[in-house]
Amino acid sequence: DAGPAARPQLWFDGALADVETLQADLTTHAMHYGSGVFEGIRAYATADGAAVFRLPEHMERMRRGAVLLGMDFDVDAAIEAVLATLRANRHRDAYIRPLAWFGAGGFGLDVEGHPQHMMVSTTATRVHLCGARATVGVSSWRRNPADSLPPLKLCGAYVNSILAKRESKARGFDEALFVDRDGYVVECTGANLFAVSGGRVTAVEHRDALPGITRDTLIALTGAEVRPLTLEELLAADEVFACGTAAELAPIARIEDRGYGDNPVSRELAALYGRVIRGHESASAAWLTPV
Ligand code: PMP
Repeated sequence: DAGPAARPQLWFDGALADVETLQADLTTHAMHYGSGVFEGIRAYATADGAAVFRLPEHMERMRRGAVLLGMDFDVDAAIEAVLATLRANRHRDAYIRPLAWFGAGGFGLDVEGHPQHMMVSTTATRVHLCGARATVGVSSWRRNPADSLPPLKLCGAYVNSILAKRESKARGFDEALFVDRDGYVVECTGANLFAVSGGRVTAVEHRDALPGITRDTLIALTGAEVRPLTLEELLAADEVFACGTAAELAPIARIEDRGYGDNPVSRELAALYGRVIRGHESASAAWLTPV
């Protein structure tokens, strides 16, 4: 085992390079207007070496965002870029951040004439599956409505999450929960939500929520029911958990002043998800891309 690469490598516009040698222009369009799209993906150490969890699905979601912004995007090339970066950095457990964005070319909003760039950054991660139980505040901010900003990983869209996160932290919570004007639960700032009642698992459905790949995985594994849920129903549930690539499956300790118990079903599902991502379940094979 050679350990991590001595000089961290980053994929930039078709080739690997030392991280320190790369710079971005300060007039970069995406930096001013949020005209970029990214993904958050994870690789895990399995018995057969490192493998990326649901890589094609992540890249397909990124492609949808890129097309919306008017970018060219090749899913297969993006997959190869991710694998090449992981190999170069000799990562096993890793968080992977691809980003496609419009670069320098003037301050007009029109993206035409701006060069398109692509990078892939990978960082070694410690797995925090089922780690600290989060406390969650209900945000006074509304989630970006899908008919204003579709729920894709567009850079600018995340200002909405940043505002909600800032507010919740200032109020002493770890995370924020978005609820729409009719009282329906949308999602957290970077994770989807599930409720458990009487042993029955329900995935929150909302048109403004990102179609999460972890959520999709858990629905496939559990046969969870999928439907809209009001905040009232979430507060009345036995257990609530958030899920996402980074959060994995995170049982929630408290929403506002409603505390939950020790979340036995959530913890059991977290353990199942932990086995799936490491290749220990029959369902794993179809979802893991060897590095
Ligand atoms: N919602 C938002 C807003 C997110 O940023 C994320 C993280 N990508 C998720 C949900 C969870 O999605 P996934 O399971 O695909 O990581």
